[in-house]
Amino acid sequence: MPFCRHRCGYCNFSVIADRDDLIRRFLIAIDTELQFIGRHAQTIPPLDTLFVGGGTPTHLPTDSLERFLSILCNRVDLQPDAEWSMEANPEDITDEKLALLADYGVNRLSLGIQSFNDRKLRTLDRSHSGEYAEATIRRAAQVIPNVSIDLIFAAPGESPADWHRDIRTAASLPIKHVSTYALTFEKGTSFWSRRNRGTLTTVDESDELAMYDDARNVFSEAGLAHYEISNFARSGFRCRHNLCYWSGDGWYAAGPGAAAFVDGQRVVNHRSTTTYLKRIENGESPIAESEKISDEQAARESAAFGVRLIDGIDLALLAGRTGIPIESLCAVELDQLLEQGLIERVEHRIKLTDRGIHFADTVASEFLG
Ligand code: SF4
Repeated sequence: MPFCRHRCGYCNFSVIADRDDLIRRFLIAIDTELQFIGRHAQTIPPLDTLFVGGGTPTHLPTDSLERFLSILCNRVDLQPDAEWSMEANPEDITDEKLALLADYGVNRLSLGIQSFNDRKLRTLDRSHSGEYAEATIRRAAQVIPNVSIDLIFAAPGESPADWHRDIRTAASLPIKHVSTYALTFEKGTSFWSRRNRGTLTTVDESDELAMYDDARNVFSEAGLAHYEISNFARSGFRCRHNLCYWSGDGWYAAGPGAAAFVDGQRVVNHRSTTTYLKRIENGESPIAESEKISDEQAARESAAFGVRLIDGIDLALLAGRTGIPIESLCAVELDQLLEQGLIERVEHRIKLTDRGIHFADTVASEFLG
């Protein structure tokens, strides 16, 4: 879902702001694409998870949101106990929209909260207030009990004490899951240019690490277990959809910029919403790139994602799935990482050590060759 109220200064997703005139065309196009996927894929079993992200799916006006939900229910066959997540921003959440989401079967809400601190929210170009974010979480949890929130740390001007207040507030609220991301400055965003001009400051690395460790402590004390580098969950509420990405299972995808991985083939749609719409309206494929993933690449990528899970990688399971044992494929790298104390071997698994958790990206890149 590519639509957003405005583009936040740090965002480099394929979103489209201030073009609500395209919503009607988008709904027709997504219906056509889903119908196409259903017709052309081999048999698709009822799906275990459905994740609607963006963009901001709840930015749609209520009548369009209802139309969108009915398209999904019509075109996507879900298991009876499927996890259906929907991303949402606090400023869009009305009681009417919450009831609509629940009625159509959405059972997990992922709220883009980012912070409860008004100054930080303004820096991040977010239009809600901290107080409103807290109230929205409480209100949403009464209708859709599985609420997840996203929080950003290391925002310009943020101190470890500011971040501590944010995570203490989060931990006191009725959430089942939280994802925390250090702010990154991506090329092409306004934050990137402002940093280069010196009008936005960055947080120094030692403060950023201290903030990350603080989140690990505060959330685990609050019963939100750290299960992936950036993710924490109460027991039974790990995100099933993301676990599917991280363990290298397959998934279908639809919409501008959407990337699917089915039967060893990765396909990515055009990022531009207008190109996506034109192609579908002309009866053409929205796919921009398609790549066959070799067994070796699949094994390397599964190891790189899998090692970000705090429980680590089950080597036998990975070899069973890809047919390639990672111990022989990456023997030298594994030895080096073990020697550097970044990973450890626990029976048939390898996992990040406490020190390795701070270097997860470096460890993951070793597996990619
Ligand atoms: S609301 Fe989210 S997706 Fe939309 S512009 Fe902001 S960060 Fe990007």
